[in-house]
Amino acid sequence: MALWRFPSIVKRGVSSSLIRHLVGLSSSEYISGLLSPLSIHRKQSTWESNSKSCSFATKYGLSVNLLLVNFCSQAYKTCWSCKEKLTYSSKFCGNCSKLQPLDSSLNFFDVLGIEKIFNVDTKALTRTYRKLQADFHPDRYSVKSEQEQQYALEHSSAVNKAYRCLLHPVERALYLLVLAGQPLHEGQIDMEPSFLMEIMEVNEELAEATDQETVRTIGQRNQEIIDRLLREADAAFSAMNIEEARAVVAKIKYYNNIYEKVREYEREHGIVD
Ligand SMILES: [Zn+2]
Repeated sequence: MALWRFPSIVKRGVSSSLIRHLVGLSSSEYISGLLSPLSIHRKQSTWESNSKSCSFATKYGLSVNLLLVNFCSQAYKTCWSCKEKLTYSSKFCGNCSKLQPLDSSLNFFDVLGIEKIFNVDTKALTRTYRKLQADFHPDRYSVKSEQEQQYALEHSSAVNKAYRCLLHPVERALYLLVLAGQPLHEGQIDMEPSFLMEIMEVNEELAEATDQETVRTIGQRNQEIIDRLLREADAAFSAMNIEEARAVVAKIKYYNNIYEKVREYEREHGIVD
């Protein structure tokens, strides 16, 4: 059964708990972001009765109404060419098989059609990426209409952008924080002095290192810390504990800077490409 992945409603300025209350979403539905067309139909009636009686509706006024319209209308879309009714996630029309335009409200996970989690299987991610790149490759559209060629380019560029971001765990974590409505900006979290001291010491050690072996040891130790923190970030994201995830990601950024410096040394000394 086709599933509809609901868009990041939180981005539109209404809190996730309000949405869950108004639509009657269970926590598993909310976390997975997946609803079948049938359950959308049921949620639609919950929306309608709740938005009439709910005091939030008055408070949020137009934005709740807009959400209601979006929520219901996005379950289906119409083919631009033959007007066939298509499910929200269809990239191609089932009737005329024409490529559909890219939906600009899709997040990177939706663009690649993968689950919105932190612990992404990067091998599977790369396979998905290659398949999508082949699906939208310009060669496939050289004899198609100009409109489809344009859509293919848009899909292809979105797939590239999504892959580049989600492949890298730090970028992926930062992006998940953005989707959760709590982006992490530079200097936004006050780090403990002892933590900053530790980072400073590693940086000094690295700056003073004169041989490859020392740099390699620093790099290895740093990687172990990053791996441990990534596991902590995964646990926090899985538990939907965004505040904790944010704190862990803030730390990871510091160790990632050290990682970059080690890589730079290795590149300069011809150890890696
Ligand atoms: Zn069609």
